[in-house]
Amino acid sequence: YVKERGRSDFRFYQRQMNIGLLSRMKMDHAMRQALEHNLFRLHYQPQIELKTGRLLGVEALLRWTDKDLGEVSPAQFIPIAEESGVIVPIGNWVMQTAIRQAALWNKDGKQIRVAINVSALQFQQSNFVESIALALQENDLKPECIELELTESILIRDAEEALKRLQSLADLGVKLAIDDFGTGYSSLSYLKRFPIYKLKIDRSFVDALPSDESDAAIVTAIIHLAQALKLRVLAEGVETIEQRDFLQKMLCDEMQGYLFSPAVSAEEFEKRYLS
Ligand code: C2E
Ligand code: MG
Ligand code: MG
Ligand code: MG
Repeated sequence: YVKERGRSDFRFYQRQMNIGLLSRMKMDHAMRQALEHNLFRLHYQPQIELKTGRLLGVEALLRWTDKDLGEVSPAQFIPIAEESGVIVPIGNWVMQTAIRQAALWNKDGKQIRVAINVSALQFQQSNFVESIALALQENDLKPECIELELTESILIRDAEEALKRLQSLADLGVKLAIDDFGTGYSSLSYLKRFPIYKLKIDRSFVDALPSDESDAAIVTAIIHLAQALKLRVLAEGVETIEQRDFLQKMLCDEMQGYLFSPAVSAEEFEKRYLS
């Protein structure tokens, strides 16, 4: 009986795995098609200075509506794109598109910083820094208008090479932010070695503010850490006035979240904030 059971369990798992593999392959194919047919879009979520309520910039967030799958969340497709490697051309598209948009928005004295998410695999490409420098030049954009959002995973793999690359980006004048801060596996020592500009406190710590004592303690500690290291600090996923008030009281620099606005199309962003 046990043997039988074991075998059918095995078949069951194998089928599950195959379904997973199949949909991964389908998804990968669909993403390549979407790139080719220009079906990806960028939406932009405002980042607000807490002290003044002033709009400082936006985060570019990838959006994809597939004709069969419908609207697919980046939380779903980015990990698959990272596994298959298609994140590299997708990431290039994001970089080109966001820099072009930033150049349009930063004309005639306006200042809108555009933050761009970068995957580890994309960061590891040998021409990564060069391609950003080139895009900035081609679009006649000041490097300080661009912020790159990196995850801690970028910093742990081949730390020496990562350090060199981060230093060239910082030398270029581009700002560097650590995304989802506090959720990764790396040690804090990179904070003193790498030329980091900003910490982004992960949404998971902000969610239960201010009532959850542990989260309140963690968020406070991250803000203090940033202040002590002279880094800027932004809280993600701010949805309520109570969360905002708590962050303001703790002297967090910036916030981003549905309380102010979700990510919206470039047209919508212009209508709301630039006209
Ligand atoms: P992230 O970089 O941490 O982006 C923040 C995510 O939180 C976004 O989800 C945003 O829409 C969502 N968010 C913002 N404010 C709130 C809020 O108040 N409440 C809630 N519940 N959510 C909020 P999104 O757009 O689904 O993106 C998910 C993740 O996918 C991003 O997390 C990022 O890791 C990745 N991603 C998105 N666009 C790109 C991209 O162009 N390149 C790369 N490599 N990754 C991307
Ligand atoms: Mg991000
Ligand atoms: Mg984030
Ligand atoms: Mg996050």
